Amino acid sequence: MKEFREAGLRQEILDAIAEMGFVKPTPIQEKTISHLLSSKQDLVALAQTGTGKTAAFGLPIVEQVDPSLNKTQALILCPTRELCMQITKDFNSFSKYLPRIKTVAIYGGSSIEKQISTLAKGVHIVVGTPGRVLDLIYKKKLKIEKITWLVLDEADEMLNMGFKEDLDEILSSVISDKQTLLFSATMPGEIAKIAETYMTDPDEISAGQKNVGAENVEHHYYLVHARDRYNALKRLADVYPDIYGIVFCRTREETQQVADKLISDGYNADALHGNLSQSQRDQVMNRFRTGHLQLLVATDVAARGIDVNNLSHIINYNLPDDPDIYLHRSGRTGRAGKSGISISIVHMKEKSRIRMIENRSKIRFAQKKVPDGITICEKQLFCLVDRVVNIDVNKDQIERFLPYIYDKLSDLSRDELIQHFISVEFNRFLEYYKDASDLNKGIEAQKVKTKSSDKYKDREKFSGRESFTREDGRKKQDKRGKKDFSRFFISVGSKDNIDKPGLIKLIASQIRNRAVEIGRVDLMKNFSFFEIDSSYEKETLKAFELYEFMGKPVTVELSSTEPHEPRPRVKKKGSKNKYQS
Ligand code: ADP
Ligand code: MG
Repeated sequence: MKEFREAGLRQEILDAIAEMGFVKPTPIQEKTISHLLSSKQDLVALAQTGTGKTAAFGLPIVEQVDPSLNKTQALILCPTRELCMQITKDFNSFSKYLPRIKTVAIYGGSSIEKQISTLAKGVHIVVGTPGRVLDLIYKKKLKIEKITWLVLDEADEMLNMGFKEDLDEILSSVISDKQTLLFSATMPGEIAKIAETYMTDPDEISAGQKNVGAENVEHHYYLVHARDRYNALKRLADVYPDIYGIVFCRTREETQQVADKLISDGYNADALHGNLSQSQRDQVMNRFRTGHLQLLVATDVAARGIDVNNLSHIINYNLPDDPDIYLHRSGRTGRAGKSGISISIVHMKEKSRIRMIENRSKIRFAQKKVPDGITICEKQLFCLVDRVVNIDVNKDQIERFLPYIYDKLSDLSRDELIQHFISVEFNRFLEYYKDASDLNKGIEAQKVKTKSSDKYKDREKFSGRESFTREDGRKKQDKRGKKDFSRFFISVGSKDNIDKPGLIKLIASQIRNRAVEIGRVDLMKNFSFFEIDSSYEKETLKAFELYEFMGKPVTVELSSTEPHEPRPRVKKKGSKNKYQS
């Protein structure tokens, strides 16, 4: 099937997707749509983010749902509220000309009563997060006996988020004669296990190579000292004045801290992560989608729901442990035929991960040098000149001031005039970068000539200051009502063949309460540390009583030690923050 028309979709659907701008099916759609329209066989479909999976399962479901049967016939499970809403919106677009088909989103953190009353009216397609879906099944408000299609969308991400048990329960309680479809960008062992346990002899299809980065994405990395990570980020933002992208961080805390620093340094940036309230998240996402926000600092999970096709850059503030996550991230740029750049800020200890990602995924990285002051100034200058050339001049309004202005400027030659005007903006950059050190690792850093007192003096004035004290970060966190975390020691480490995501899953599954938030996790060789919302200290200790891992008893106790990774040897006051290590 090379055209939607050949698939056997009804005219109402063809009209609707034509309006959405779908001309040709994507590869995963080609394969999945014809499969679902012709076979009842379960299906595992692998395709990376942005390949059109929603329509791949959505169109054949909308095609086959029976609107005259007042029962829920399709249940779609996905990891986040944002995705629920996105998928529901897509389904409503697909069924625009089949108005009797009702699709509803159900997710946590929103009134369950309203969702119950919507369900009571009868809906054909339910899109939900596993926790809320399960609640509503228990309450007997979501009836599942007539489910014909059960879709697990972003199955790998649902597992990463600790939904394994909820999924197990849902999968084992939907016993009708259903077709189960599992969509995932990656195929970790646990997904294979779900497929094995709950699916009957599934067909497996994958579109193109699994986990291959988009072809029009360039992969760049910058090698810096760990303590220079943030400064390198700023230089990259400065050298790409028109940047529109996502900065990926590992934890919610780091996300907030980096965003706070960028904001306080005058960049058009904001944070998106799970510690924010839903309305804060919606606001940030809207500003980003509409292009009012240039840099979105986000965790992987929070960035899931964002569907923006024209990002110029992805910045990996840290390299993820899992190569597949790197591919997810970089696949968010270079979409819809546009080119994109995926940037990684890497310190020496992470360098091997670059090779690991290359080996796993056939992409090639180019090492780049962190731009020096001159380069940035040049970029900014040309950007400024472009702005001057392209600015709309409001003749009517400016007219009456002109005589005075002409008079005032009459002693300047044309050349001098240009120089003066440009300098108004440009001097800030020039001054800021005039003594900028070389951030590239391995090259002896020049001494920064500015005295520290001078630095602080005009920190307010200039947006791009490279100094930021730990206290600044703290204060902001407090204002935003950041949670307190307690730090625990656990006698499990990388020598036990566990990686960081594995450890997080282990902790989450042991605590068994999704309300409990896991903060920073530091995996060491022989043991590890993890942070838990302080109000759950007792619960956490109890959860690990008598716990055994790989047949060995495990010790978990409160830790008083501060973090973690080896710090840079020279420690200057105020020159680094804990999350820069
Ligand atoms: P995935 O779930 O694989 O990450 P989505 O289903 O969210 O991808 O689709 C990504 C984007 O591509 C959406 O904006 C969607 O509207 C668009 N899209 C999907 N299928 C097509 C198609 N056949 N032609 C053009 N655009 C499409
Ligand atoms: Mg999707």
